[in-house]
This record gives sequence, structure tokens and C-alpha cells, in this order.
Amino acid sequence: MSADCLFCRIVRGEIPAKLVAESDDCVAFRDIDPKAPTHLLVIPRAHVASLNEATDEALLGKVMRFAADVARQEGIADSGWRTVVNTGPDAQQSVFHLHVHVMGGRKFHWPPG
Ligand code: C5P
Repeated sequence: MSADCLFCRIVRGEIPAKLVAESDDCVAFRDIDPKAPTHLLVIPRAHVASLNEATDEALLGKVMRFAADVARQEGIADSGWRTVVNTGPDAQQSVFHLHVHVMGGRKFHWPPG
């Protein structure tokens, strides 16, 4: 846990968030500035700054599995959904606690901008 990290504070309940699912290892909540009709963030409870620092393969697997479970729970699994993990400045990562964007409910384009 990191005292100042925004998403650690959401995990601890110090900052309000619209939680949609929780497990022992992960939390999913609605993005405060959604870019799709369904836009969630799936995060590990443990503080990991970004994919660059992520060494726990089992935890990464749990985060991705949880993302898929949440996508099904939200009803976007069959029509198609997108995961995005922004890593570092060029990718415009703005919160340095690993998070998987889970987006659905509209058609996406490729390549992303
Ligand atoms: O990938 P990136 O780091 O840019 O994404 C951070 C995301 O966290 C943004 O989509 C932003 O809207 C979201 N956010 C949030 N709740 C906050 C602060 C940021 O959902 N309190």
C-alpha cells in the first residue's frame, strides 16, 4: 500500500468510488470520466505502479481474469469489449497504480489514438 496513491486510497475506502466488484486481490470501479457507455477500472489491491514494475505473474493473471468476469457481469462480454493498460508518459498513464481499463457498450476503432 502507498499512503499517497489515489487508487490505494480507493481500495482503503478513503476516497469514494463506484465499486462494482471486489475479490481478495482485485477491485473494480467505474471510471470517473467514462470514455464508453461501460468504463471500469480493474486494479490489484496491492500497490504496483505500472506494468513496468509488475513482477507477480499470478497477480497479473488474477487481474485479467477478474476483468473478464466483470465484463460478463456488466453484460458487455458477448458484444465485445476492450482492455487498455496505459504504461508510462507516452501512453498518458496518469495514475501510477496499475489499472486495466475495461470498456464496452460501443464499437471501438483500430488502431487506438
Ligand atoms: O490510464 P490512465 O492512468 O490515464 O487512467 C487513469 C484513469 O483513472 C482515468 O480514466 C481517470 O478518469 C480515472 N480516475 C478515476 N477516479 C479518480 C481519478 C481518476 O476513475 N478519482
